[in-house]
Amino acid sequence: MPLTSAIGSIVGEDIRSPINVPQFPRSAMDGIAVRTADLKGDGPWCLPIQTVIEAGNTTPHSLLDQHVVKIMTGAPLAEGADAVIKIEDVIVQDNKAVISQLPAPGSFIRPMGNDITSGQVLFRRGDLLRPGDIGILASIGLQQVMVTPRPRIALVSTGSEIVEPGAQLQYGQIYDSNIPTLYSLLSYDRFPVQTQERVRSNDLEPLRETLKRCLEHHDLVITTGAVSMGDYDFIPDIVTALGGKLLFYKVAVKPGKPTLIADMGQCWLVSLPGNPVSVLVGYFLYVRRVVSRLSGLPFEPVRSHATLAGDVRVSGNRFNIVGARLEKTVKGLVAHPSPRQESGRLSSARSIDGLMMIEGGTRTVKKGTQVLVELLNHERLP
Ligand code: AMP
Ligand code: MG
Repeated sequence: MPLTSAIGSIVGEDIRSPINVPQFPRSAMDGIAVRTADLKGDGPWCLPIQTVIEAGNTTPHSLLDQHVVKIMTGAPLAEGADAVIKIEDVIVQDNKAVISQLPAPGSFIRPMGNDITSGQVLFRRGDLLRPGDIGILASIGLQQVMVTPRPRIALVSTGSEIVEPGAQLQYGQIYDSNIPTLYSLLSYDRFPVQTQERVRSNDLEPLRETLKRCLEHHDLVITTGAVSMGDYDFIPDIVTALGGKLLFYKVAVKPGKPTLIADMGQCWLVSLPGNPVSVLVGYFLYVRRVVSRLSGLPFEPVRSHATLAGDVRVSGNRFNIVGARLEKTVKGLVAHPSPRQESGRLSSARSIDGLMMIEGGTRTVKKGTQVLVELLNHERLP
């Protein structure tokens, strides 16, 4: 990739510097370069200025005995000089420099390779390129960098009932919130979405056709709906018909039981049920992990214990994922559970920043209980 396009990408191979940076010893100050051995006895010393070396000077200079050179910041040091004195600390008159303080050898000199040495490994395969890293790569002269390509992602929402926001709703219709949810979650985690499709039909054929097309041109297809037990939930059949390998279908997790992940050969398929909260939770539990790994990023969930700030009613045997707003207090993390979370009630998941993980079994988990939470902090990801 061209260097400046590679921000946020993952380095695809170890990168060693082909050069020393700088390639020559250079002055760190505007000043006078001296050979300290020339400054014998007690100062002050008065020595003639042999020449002026500016930054960008390409002809090497050798310092004559008992001379000094005037030198600018960034200019290559004259051969034989071993210290630079700041111009403020020198009196210059009649093309001579009067020096009153003996500088320590090496003062205000940036030696060759001071920043980066030739052969030094600067980046490892799998490192994330942050904005400052682009400058480092430019400083070793690279124009392009080998990166792991971002997966090409398609989002497909399904169902006769779904309508694009902006259109007029007819009786029986709802607005599609799943595509905007997934699109914004992925974008916020900096995974660009390439394609968005709505299959506004309950029939098998249009769904099969759209899925087949998307699977051919992407690395990951994420669908919502048509994956449960209803008469029109065709995705599991289509996976089989297209020769896909199911990694799993149905998880003992609430919400989002009819979730499916399949290896479709050249492409991965993650199918989430249509309920909007299942989609939100499914993003964090499955999609984020899959996309991170496809992007060459290790994914380590960040989990913590928190104190429940209110009772949570759970029922059934499935493992429960309950959204929470997290608050840092002097006594530790406090989890405010989503009020009235239900898979079809997206507004109940407003501004959650953690997912509480609560064992199955019908009961009320009381305020004050310690619960395990997966933190959703997006800033953690590239
Ligand atoms: P399904 O998994 O297709 O049976 O859908 C489950 C529930 O989610 C139904 O009430 C659907 O109407 C609803 N639903 C499906 N897709 C969407 C969507 N894209 N946006 C909002 N709700 C949806
Ligand atoms: Mg449906």
